[in-house]
Amino acid sequence: MQTKAVTNAITHACGHSGTARVYSRSTRDVRSELQQARCTLCPDCVELVNTWLTTDGGAAPFDVAVYPMLGTPKRCSWAESLRKECMKRFLPAMTVAAERGDRLGAGVWKALYALLRCRDARFWIDNRTIIGQAFYVGQEAAHFIRHHSTSTPTSSIYAWLRREPAFVRRDIERLCPISVAA
Ligand SMILES: [Zn+2]
Repeated sequence: MQTKAVTNAITHACGHSGTARVYSRSTRDVRSELQQARCTLCPDCVELVNTWLTTDGGAAPFDVAVYPMLGTPKRCSWAESLRKECMKRFLPAMTVAAERGDRLGAGVWKALYALLRCRDARFWIDNRTIIGQAFYVGQEAAHFIRHHSTSTPTSSIYAWLRREPAFVRRDIERLCPISVAA
C-alpha cells in the first residue's frame, strides 16, 4: 500500500480551525493522527501562551500552595529550585489564564496547577528543559481540554497524573476557577 499525504480540516483544542497534514497507510492510522492533531493548540494560541509565560505584565501571582518534593534529598533540593524558578512565571500566568476565562485559559490553568502540585522530583529533573516552554505548556493544556493524550508519563504531566489517584484529577477540575464546557 502507498503512503499518501492528505490535508484535513480540524478544530484545535483551543476551538480554532486549522489543518492537519497526515501521512499514513491505513484509515485507522489516519484517524489516530487526526485525533492527535485535534489535541493541539493552534499556532496563534501557542504564541499567546508564550506571552503569558514570558511577559512580566505585572499580573498578581495566583495563590498555589506547594508541598515538599519526594525523592532523594539531593534530587528534592534540585527539583524544588527548578519549581521555584518556574513559579515566578507560572503563578502570574495562572492569574492571566483565570481572567481570560475561556477554554484555553482553563487548559493552561489546569496544566500549570498540575505541574506545581507535582511532587515527583524526578519528573521535574528529567523534564527541566521543557517544563517552562510555551510549546510544552500549550501541549499539556490541550490534553487537559480534550481529556486525551497519547504522551508518556515520563514527559507529560497530563499522562503522569493518570497514574495518580482519581481524587487528584478531580481536585484540579474542582479548583479550576474557570468552568467551561469541554
Ligand atoms: Zn487557538
